Amino acid sequence: MNSASHYDVAIIGAGMSGLAAGIRLAHFGKRVCIFERHNAPGGLNGFYSLGGRRYDVGLHAMTNFVRPGVKGTPLGKLLRQLRIDRDEFALCEQKQSRIAFGPQGGTSLRFTNDFAVLESEVAQRFPAQIDGFRRLVGAVRAYDDVSLDAPAESARAVVRRHVTDPLLEDMLFCPVMYYGSATERDLEFGQFVIMFKALFLEGFARPFDGVRVIIRVLLEKFRAAGGERRMQCGVRALRAHAGRATALVLDDGSEVTADHVLSSIGAPETEVLISDQSKIPNPQSQFFTGALTFVETITILDCPPAALGWGEDTIVFFNDSDRFDYVRSADQVDLRSGVICIPNNFDYGPGRALPEGIFRCTCLASYDRWAHLPEETYRADKARWYAAIQRSAQRFLPPAPAGAFARATVTTDMFTPRTITRFTGHFGGAIYGSPVKHRQGRTALANVYLCGTDQGFLGIVGAMLSGISMANFHILQKG
Ligand SMILES: Cc1cc2nc3c(=O)[nH]c(=O)nc-3n(C[C@H](O)[C@H](O)[C@H](O)COP(=O)(O)OP(=O)(O)OC[C@H]3O[C@@H](n4cnc5c(N)ncnc54)[C@H](O)[C@@H]3O)c2cc1C
Repeated sequence: MNSASHYDVAIIGAGMSGLAAGIRLAHFGKRVCIFERHNAPGGLNGFYSLGGRRYDVGLHAMTNFVRPGVKGTPLGKLLRQLRIDRDEFALCEQKQSRIAFGPQGGTSLRFTNDFAVLESEVAQRFPAQIDGFRRLVGAVRAYDDVSLDAPAESARAVVRRHVTDPLLEDMLFCPVMYYGSATERDLEFGQFVIMFKALFLEGFARPFDGVRVIIRVLLEKFRAAGGERRMQCGVRALRAHAGRATALVLDDGSEVTADHVLSSIGAPETEVLISDQSKIPNPQSQFFTGALTFVETITILDCPPAALGWGEDTIVFFNDSDRFDYVRSADQVDLRSGVICIPNNFDYGPGRALPEGIFRCTCLASYDRWAHLPEETYRADKARWYAAIQRSAQRFLPPAPAGAFARATVTTDMFTPRTITRFTGHFGGAIYGSPVKHRQGRTALANVYLCGTDQGFLGIVGAMLSGISMANFHILQKG
């Protein structure tokens, strides 16, 4: 064996979970290398440059925000385990967010990083439901969401034991599902608890300079701890013998070996690396991969969104239909619901404001309806849907003066499920991965483990915690 290409641990993917796992392992003296197919780190939460501007790929907000001194929270745990000082992330809190339902958003619940705001909004709009809502919150607080072997239970069923008004039920599910459900209509209660705490009991924040601050901190910690990173160096296959991975075959055909392999690329995607590819079922099959994917539009404005009357809301979760239908979109885009994010509306401190206005909208989409279009049609469809998404989303904001949004627009970008698959390798553009999660991170091979999206912890904080907990559980605790 060539010792130069042998590692204690090989990590596949330099997204949030892979980077966090790498730091943790390197801190404990493991010889660890992260292999990343793309030329930039961050994965679903990276950033890119276009026309001289830098855009965040995924960041609306970092969830799980708590103020300094609050103990026993996911953010505190991850900072401690990665030896990051919280000032290094320099997080700025949201102003307020809203859940807006009805054709023009007539029923609205505000929430901030102070949970009392949501509680009082529920008491005001749904007085008959407030006792049940408080019981639900009690059940959420009491649930052990870090257990790796909790039994699966329908979140809808549990919530309905406490909340009997379907409108309130759907209003609570909308943000929770948009920010982390790989399953349609319902999700597992443990997943609901994680997201409910992350969004409502904790909250939203972001660094002034966006996700690149978080990535820079992670890369510095990894490098300082002695970790190696090979970019533009994908893993094409895993060779196996007697139930264990014996080598990683890289995109250039060369091979490296490792005692352990941690894969952050998704469960079906890892299966494909492991198996004889001729025997794999169609990887786009809905039984194999996640059905839920999204489009996102980004509009750069020459003024702060506050100048259009949109200075209050940081994030708005909207739905115009009788019931909130979180399903694979039948059309290219489902305009009935979505998420608006206005990054300018975080509290950056006195005299500190982003240099340009930014307006982001996310809607459910269909991978199949975008994936195989000829280039010209793809571009034309993007332009058509960009306009339709703006019209749909702006119904849920205070009306701007006629034509003002178009006049203020400097440039736009839009990504589709096809973009997601192209840059992150996730089958079906499934940001939240497969509906089947693997809480213990096990795969068909004894020394290959999953971390990140398909282990089951999602989002920036969730993915990092997943990387840490899988490194601890499978590698560090076993010596
Ligand atoms: C539009 C959008 C908005 C989002 N908004 C938020 C938000 O506001 N807040 C939040 O907390 N989360 C948000 N998320 C979710 C969050 O980004 C993800 O849950 C998280 O980043 C997942 O990290 P990961 O490490 O599990 O996986 P990934 O980020 O998918 O990382 C996997 C990495 O593996 C690489 N890779 C794939 N195949 C191979 C291979 N064969 N060999 C080598 N490398 C490979 C990929 O290039 C990628 O870098 C958003 C995501 C998107 C896309």
